[in-house]
Amino acid sequence: MSQKNIKRVPLYINGEFVQSKSAEWISVTNPATQEVLAEVPCATQAEMEAAVASAKEAFLTWKETPVSERARVMLRYQALLKEHHDEIAEILASETGKTFDDAKGDVWRGIEVVEHACNVPSLLMGETVENVARNIDSYSYTQPLGVCAGITPFNFPAMIPLWMFPLSIACGNTFILKPSEQDPLTPTRLVELFEEAGAPKGVLQVLHGGKDQVDFILDEPAVRAISFVGSVPVGQYIYRRGTENMKRVQAFAGAKNHCVIMPDANKSQVINNLVGASVGAAGQRCMAISVAVFVGAARDWIPEIAAEIAKVKPGGWNDKQAGFGPLISQQAKQRVENFITQGEQEGAELLVDGRNCTVDGFPDGNWVGPTVFGNVTRDMEIYKQEIFGPVLCTMESESLEDAIALVNANPYGNGTSIFTASGAAARKYQHEIEVGQVGINIPIPVPLPFFSFTGWKGSFFGDLHAYGKQAVRFYSETKTITARWFESDIADANAPNMT
Ligand code: NAD
Repeated sequence: MSQKNIKRVPLYINGEFVQSKSAEWISVTNPATQEVLAEVPCATQAEMEAAVASAKEAFLTWKETPVSERARVMLRYQALLKEHHDEIAEILASETGKTFDDAKGDVWRGIEVVEHACNVPSLLMGETVENVARNIDSYSYTQPLGVCAGITPFNFPAMIPLWMFPLSIACGNTFILKPSEQDPLTPTRLVELFEEAGAPKGVLQVLHGGKDQVDFILDEPAVRAISFVGSVPVGQYIYRRGTENMKRVQAFAGAKNHCVIMPDANKSQVINNLVGASVGAAGQRCMAISVAVFVGAARDWIPEIAAEIAKVKPGGWNDKQAGFGPLISQQAKQRVENFITQGEQEGAELLVDGRNCTVDGFPDGNWVGPTVFGNVTRDMEIYKQEIFGPVLCTMESESLEDAIALVNANPYGNGTSIFTASGAAARKYQHEIEVGQVGINIPIPVPLPFFSFTGWKGSFFGDLHAYGKQAVRFYSETKTITARWFESDIADANAPNMT
């Protein structure tokens, strides 16, 4: 395709899809083929200022729009997303390389958050106490903040934008979205459908770009709250700079998620679940299981698990036999392969080697095959770093206590799971583990949207988490009213009406 025929991704400003005047464009490539699918702009200063001005203006009317009308936009939106579910998943698969099933899951988990946003009238209910003092009542209202913003990663281009703007907007805010520059086509389709659902002009703006555009959002005084999902260093940077500028920030970051396997666990369930949880989506999930800790005699299962994982084959998005797709970029592939080499050098046992992986028909894809390491120790870089690839580190532990100590010493705290037939072991684990999302015989315990996504420690900076009641608090102010009415002011029912 000649350069001038390549699709240019528009910005979305003041209810219009507009072509950026930027001189700086980034290629969006199909990671299975390297075909350039589109170019995405780095929005200019004037474009970013226009988006903020429109979001500020739209807030003045949107905040006065009755909550039931705001909820109705979300009801129409969830219906449209369901109607276009497979079409969105195809766009998503083409730019991320995810298998179709995985892409559909990404869209579906986002739709569930929109369904949750339809409940916004109940979610916004305040509190009341009568007679806090004699003849005095107190009650609270939940009011919107103003302009909010979201900065999202490449690995869930439908679900993560949908974690953010629907709930924020349902709460009465306006929103500026800065999607990942690696897969902006899916969020663009989400925004087209939001407009079709009847979202008024200006309540949602989309700015594309990278660090400079993020810095603009971090420094813009009109932006009251920022939701971020992405890597640890960027999350720390955004949390520091955003809070330095006196904004509310919630920053969801990287992870190293452990699965603890007790010897009394159901072995076939463990094998089935670990395969998908570790190498599924090419390991590019913040809740992927990247460390399996085998307690006591469960260590004997490692060779069988490695053999099962070795059978998983990557492939194109519409190949029904494919277990997962390519890595998002050539740099990501190189980084993961470097970690595999480093693991070998550090003395871990390479049980399954995913380097030099090829897939028929896709000679240029960013393929890394399933990889399993044995005898991993906590001082190794492959244990300390988030690899974000289809790589499982296996470790051994003498007791449940030791396994708990290992997980708790890890700086991350996004998700963890335990496989066991013992209620007592599961209870001890759920109670003592210092991780925010715990699965019991469930490998990837992502909470549904009526709960919140509650990563801890180095996996999250902030206090109020994504979706659920916590997100409603994050995107609102609470106003508490204390009111006294004097009985002596009640008019005489028989007095003439003077109006
Ligand atoms: P990333 O940090 O590279 O990018 C995320 C966003 O930040 C993108 O929009 C990007 O344009 C922007 N960005 C990148 N570099 C920046 C910089 N220097 N300054 C300002 N902004 C910058 O993350 P990614 O590679 O797109 O996503 C993968 C990471 O996201 C993994 O670490 C994964 O664990 C994490 N993740 C976490 C969660 C969670 O809920 N905890 C969920 C999904 C992904």
